[in-house]
Amino acid sequence: MIRLNDILDGIHSYLPDTDTSLVEKAYIYSAKVHAGQTRLSGEPYLSHPLATAYILTRLHLDLASIAAGLLHDTVEDTLASLEELEKMFGKDVAQIVDGVTKLSKIRFESQIQKQAENTRKMVLAMSKDIRVLLVKLADRLHNMRTLEYQKEYKRVKIARETLDIYAPLAGRLGIGWIKNELENLAFFYIYPEEYQGLSKEVEARLGKRKAYVDEVKDLIAKKMADFGLSCKVLGRPKHLYSIFRKMRTRKIPLEEVYDLIAFRIIMKGAKECYEALGIVHSLWKPIPGRFKDYISLPKTNMYQSLHTTVIGPQGERMEIQIRTGEMDVVANEGIAAHWLYKEGTIVSKEKEHRFDWLFELTEWQKELDDPREFIESVKMDLFPNEVYVFTPKGEVKEFPRGATPIDFAYAIHTEVGNHCAGAKVNGRIVPLKYQFHNGETVEIITSNKHFPNRDWLKLAKTSRALARIRQWIKTEEREKSLALGKDLCAREFKRHRLDFNDFIKTKGAEVAEALSFKTSEDMLIAAGYGKVAPSQIIRKLRAGQPEEQEPEEKESRVKKFTEKAEQQGILIHGLDDILIHLGRCCTPIPGDEVIGYITRGRGVTIHRENCSNIRNLDPDRRIEVTWADVDKATYPAKVRVSTVDQKGMLAAVSKEISAGEANILEAKVSTTPDYAAILDFVVDVKDRTQLRKILSSIRRLEGVKLVERVSPG
Ligand code: MN
Repeated sequence: MIRLNDILDGIHSYLPDTDTSLVEKAYIYSAKVHAGQTRLSGEPYLSHPLATAYILTRLHLDLASIAAGLLHDTVEDTLASLEELEKMFGKDVAQIVDGVTKLSKIRFESQIQKQAENTRKMVLAMSKDIRVLLVKLADRLHNMRTLEYQKEYKRVKIARETLDIYAPLAGRLGIGWIKNELENLAFFYIYPEEYQGLSKEVEARLGKRKAYVDEVKDLIAKKMADFGLSCKVLGRPKHLYSIFRKMRTRKIPLEEVYDLIAFRIIMKGAKECYEALGIVHSLWKPIPGRFKDYISLPKTNMYQSLHTTVIGPQGERMEIQIRTGEMDVVANEGIAAHWLYKEGTIVSKEKEHRFDWLFELTEWQKELDDPREFIESVKMDLFPNEVYVFTPKGEVKEFPRGATPIDFAYAIHTEVGNHCAGAKVNGRIVPLKYQFHNGETVEIITSNKHFPNRDWLKLAKTSRALARIRQWIKTEEREKSLALGKDLCAREFKRHRLDFNDFIKTKGAEVAEALSFKTSEDMLIAAGYGKVAPSQIIRKLRAGQPEEQEPEEKESRVKKFTEKAEQQGILIHGLDDILIHLGRCCTPIPGDEVIGYITRGRGVTIHRENCSNIRNLDPDRRIEVTWADVDKATYPAKVRVSTVDQKGMLAAVSKEISAGEANILEAKVSTTPDYAAILDFVVDVKDRTQLRKILSSIRRLEGVKLVERVSPG
């Protein structure tokens, strides 16, 4: 079992003079809150955070990360709270623990291969601070090392998740040794038979070839010495899972995997690496197309090395890697390795490209001079524009940030979208406007009574959802217009004592054609839109010949009727493209509460809600309307000002109206017996706000007694 001293020693190996009291305090706290808990192995629970923290020292991480490693399970498994951690250990530590806790709560179940990349992105997105992911990887590594104590079904599940999600993430961060160890451990549990078989076979082959490996190593070292180059030669068997993977993907037996052993030559500097390459190629014949120069073109995870494959002394292929000691550390420890070179020469301008992988990951362009700056800069949202959530079956879905249940519903199926009533997020019911957070599990609630409406266009973020909603509204409007058109025509026919149903059956198509519609249905829809008046249809039916009206007039009439309601600043629920009038009785302006009234063949008239006229009209023909967001239009409003009867009052009031940028359409002055003047205006305003400003400026004029907007009714 790892002890605190191992961790402190580890820290001092790369941060010699550091005050480690934060880590010691974290240890004491963790020991206190985990007291009495045990692991499945029977060991005290504390062994796990200790092991996790120790792995983090191998990554040369900062003190906050290591303290977080010691505390990573306290919020999840003990009575400790985040607030308490923040108070005791600072914001950094608390935030890392919070991140790890959130990641741990997620169960990446039933991952299919194509989901894995999305899931990895989600994990990255949730690890706003790279240190969250590093602590999580250390946590997972220790859990994998002690996986034997888990129940069998859990072992395979955890191993699968490790192989699909965490090992590739370790690879992406360039931490080769964690990636390899995670892969080998997962391999062991997922394919136990293949693992046993392969490991025995590989061992046997390597045993036979021990002499061969030594011979190659000696030869390389001697040749380098001949050229005055000092080097270190390593001959290591490749890790088991990579051999297994190679056999699987290439469908070849072990005998055909030539590079079981990777030879690695460690040189002093980059220049020496190229010299060494020349020497190797002079010793053995290189295989064309197998040479790779990752020194001048490093991999995105900072990996640098020369790779070549040569025909070895026994006529076999040999893979050889040549790199410097520093490159070797980076190859093994990846992102974390920069801590090793914290002081001095390493993080210099020409080394900036080591962070290319991060640039690539984040499209983030800032220059880096300092490792502290580096850590600061990795504390950002890695995928600021995406959000990742689960389906109830554990499938991961990617959405643009700000996505809502509507987007999710349409991502499943158009029908689900069209009946989306809400959603359950992590089991809790949320409204349609709810915006997802990473890692949430989303279940859509549908209802046959729920349908899309225009407001959904404001809530949806995906183009798929937006297109489907628009489509639905269009179809719906057609249907509504058809129903409305039928209704309007049926009433008009009744007024003329005509049988509407009979008309549709017998003469409908003919009249429609005469009015230039393809079908009688199109004609009725047009009637619903207000593009054609029911009376026109009747005239056409009765005449059975061209309309009495002049052609030009007819054309202008059609044009007028197709003027869009929206251009006049009114949105009619469920209907578009309908003729509207503003009620002359109450002159509504934007900001007023309004109601629409379906007239006979003249489209819809808009009245103020408190207009007495609308109260007297047929309630069945009322229709819900709202003001559209159109700022060009102006609307007439009636204003009455009573003043003392005095010269110049009209001019003064008019001046205020003009100052308020409104046009005066009409002005009328009358006097009353009690020496007062009544000024009646009709002014053209954009909306209620503008009108209110004008009224209050008039009110401030000397001599003005009363200013009011003329109320309807
Ligand atoms: Mn843990």
